[in-house]
Amino acid sequence: MHKLARLDHAHVWHPFTQMQDWLRREPMVITAGQGAVLRDVRGREYLDANSSIWTNLHGHNHPKLNAALRRQLGKIAHSSALGFANEPASLLAERLVRLANAAGGVPPRAAMPNPGMHASRLNKVFFSDDGSTAMEVALKLAYEFTRRTRGPKSKPRFLSLAGAYHGDTVGAVSLGHIALFHQSYGGLLFKTDQVMSPYCYRCPFNRAEPERADAREYRQCNWECVGKVESKCAAARKRGNDYAAFVFEPRMQGAAGMIPQPEGWLKRVSDIARGHGALLVADEVMTGFGRTGLGYLPVTTSHARKKPSRVVQSPTLFASHAEDVWPDFLAVAKGLTGGYLPMAATLTTQAVFDAFLGKYEEFKTFFHGHSYTGNQLGATAGLASLELLSGKPSIAARLRLEEDLRHELKSLWSLPSVGDVRQVGLVAGIELVRDWRTREPFALAERVGARVCEAMARRGVLTRPIGSVVVLMPPYCTTRAQLRRMVGALREAVAETLRP
Ligand SMILES: *Cc1c(COP(=O)(O)O)cnc(C)c1O
Repeated sequence: MHKLARLDHAHVWHPFTQMQDWLRREPMVITAGQGAVLRDVRGREYLDANSSIWTNLHGHNHPKLNAALRRQLGKIAHSSALGFANEPASLLAERLVRLANAAGGVPPRAAMPNPGMHASRLNKVFFSDDGSTAMEVALKLAYEFTRRTRGPKSKPRFLSLAGAYHGDTVGAVSLGHIALFHQSYGGLLFKTDQVMSPYCYRCPFNRAEPERADAREYRQCNWECVGKVESKCAAARKRGNDYAAFVFEPRMQGAAGMIPQPEGWLKRVSDIARGHGALLVADEVMTGFGRTGLGYLPVTTSHARKKPSRVVQSPTLFASHAEDVWPDFLAVAKGLTGGYLPMAATLTTQAVFDAFLGKYEEFKTFFHGHSYTGNQLGATAGLASLELLSGKPSIAARLRLEEDLRHELKSLWSLPSVGDVRQVGLVAGIELVRDWRTREPFALAERVGARVCEAMARRGVLTRPIGSVVVLMPPYCTTRAQLRRMVGALREAVAETLRP
């Protein structure tokens, strides 16, 4: 065993890993990367088919990101945001605010939250380190904002989706609804409500027989899942306690198993939640920064009085916008630095910010922060990544990659154990089942997804499953040939592992 692997075995405890299994075989020690390729300590090369757990955007060892970081390193790596501003964090905050409001566009008037409130424009950025902390910040801010607007006796309550995953800190876990991850900590958590999320492939309201297509396309239902949100919100209102916030992963729930929402669902349910007084918290930790494809949204501009308002097409990097949803909190992390450094941000409105203003001795301060808040290297990587994202080459590459992915995934339908293939932009989840005609699932204990991914790794392609769902999430720089190898490896691995 390589010396580094031995040291890992001796001392490193890995996340979400059964260490008893881990200790049985020599771990792969990654020492280098280039584009979509990872290299290990033995010189073997692999394709990074899940973008290093959904973080990497432009590929590894990117010359532009590297150069930006080197330039910043020549100045300073970190200074505290407690008491000091800094250059990259200020610049990044401004860029994020512009993007979160559709590149400076004005959110459609209909999207304004409670009429009369001058909210809806995301104007303030709170930096932290990870997706979990970004959600923790949104949670605390929404909680306290609600108490300050509804009164100190109010008991703010949150509504989130079945299967939701918002991170692993205790607040974020409370918002989540994945029993397997969360049951052990039940005693530590506060109560939140969950509501059905659309999972068309396994939806009890979907009357359609399985077909060889994404279940969203052939589903037969009456949007019962929207009705569920409506009745949850109505019940909360009846109890005299409207939800403080509705928390969601827009367009696709990641850790739930890459579960996509049918077009129009998010718009409908967020209108309902907002109509019942709830703030909207969009967790775009996975979906942000173009991961769900190039969304073009209609933005009505009516700034010049003489000119009639017109609708222009404005590109967006966020999944909520593609559904014409304008949240009050936007949490981003994973791809924020292009996958280089741990950094996160929670964007919110002026209205929320203002609720925390007051004289020093009123103690209305937001008492929350992290040592590395506004880290200069992280913010530098974020700026460089956003610069790349808005460039024509990246936009063209993402368009092509999305089309290539759609094309390549078609070949999977010939496998009888592929039940559902669901793609949203540059993410795909492939759900494996005993037989596609019955949708019969494998038992978790059979480790079907894990075994398929092990067989993919033997073919030089790395990804991680979620139960029986194999995830493909290529970096944006992935070439057509590399993508073919990723999907080809998956096809062969399924055929080898799940021979009927
Ligand atoms: C990964 C993820 C998180 C947690 O982010 P960490 O950086 O791992 O703390 C939260 N929400 C979503 C949707 C995620 O995919």
